Amino acid sequence: MRTFIILLSFILLSSTVALEAQSFDIPVFAYHRFGDSRYPSTNIPLSVFESQLQYLADNHYTVLTLGEAVAKWKAGKALPDKAAILTIDDGYLSFYENGWPLLKKYGFSATIFVQTGTIGGNDFINWPQIKEMQKAGIEIGNHSHDHSQFLNLDETERSAVFLRDLAEASDHFQEHLGSTPALYCYPYGEWTPDMEQMLRAAGFAAATVQKSGVFSQSSDAMAIPRFPMGGPFGTLQGFKNKIVMKALEVTEASPASPFFSDNPPTLRLTIKPGEVNLKNAQFFVDGTKTEIKKITADGDQQIVVLQAVKKLTQRRTLYTLTAPSATGNSWHWYSHLWVNPKVAE
Ligand SMILES: [Zn+2]
Repeated sequence: MRTFIILLSFILLSSTVALEAQSFDIPVFAYHRFGDSRYPSTNIPLSVFESQLQYLADNHYTVLTLGEAVAKWKAGKALPDKAAILTIDDGYLSFYENGWPLLKKYGFSATIFVQTGTIGGNDFINWPQIKEMQKAGIEIGNHSHDHSQFLNLDETERSAVFLRDLAEASDHFQEHLGSTPALYCYPYGEWTPDMEQMLRAAGFAAATVQKSGVFSQSSDAMAIPRFPMGGPFGTLQGFKNKIVMKALEVTEASPASPFFSDNPPTLRLTIKPGEVNLKNAQFFVDGTKTEIKKITADGDQQIVVLQAVKKLTQRRTLYTLTAPSATGNSWHWYSHLWVNPKVAE
């Protein structure tokens, strides 16, 4: 009987521990090309990349792969206080030739998202190189087969094309690596709630998007935000600013979809109470500071209404809200991606 009670309390205790959500804030960085000045908008100079790795090492950050972090999150396990995740999109040869050797030098890992349709093509890594990196601890993620702009299709067609592309990419991974990735990165970082649903149904553990922000216990697993680290964003100072950012917890965003009909579109965010000081919040439209339209209280929830002043003219536009924590010790970040599929890439 006594053994039984001890056993029972152990089971109860461990299940309580497992159910308790562990809070964490981990910035995820998105890179494309390394030391390839032919494409300045997606490139990071090697000296800058190395200075970022040096910064992580000097300041005792744990570098996790996205898969490791997601697995710990889902299992309710604690994640390190100081951690970062490095992701690389598109599988350009410059990662294999220039980026990976620097990661090895510092003993860091990363998650690389590759589109199976271009593997082995001119300027892209090939399957033996992918296998070599995977063996050495680089995590491989799915970045589609065709790298299509799925949002250009209407909803019914999009579902069919997306599922077909997903199956094709998985076949290639299975054939060449003997397994299929559980992580996905939407081409161009553009996604819709129905694509999230399809990934979930297909058994994916997580997916990354093209909107800035911090991965936290409140993230949508199928839309994990990342900070870009290429072109004008690829600096040491930018990296240092972003690495201390926290997630701004939004309990509801309306609309949830990236599409809009009124231009400029209105975004309505319900903010988790008590965490941030909204009086000092800042709103940016693609980096340009803009006045917040309205902040109202609804019970203990706070609602922030955001709208750009000018019409959105680009294919992708970010609305970003940042606010200091209630204690004033840190800054919190949230952004929403708008996509106008009528504008060409
Ligand atoms: Zn891509």
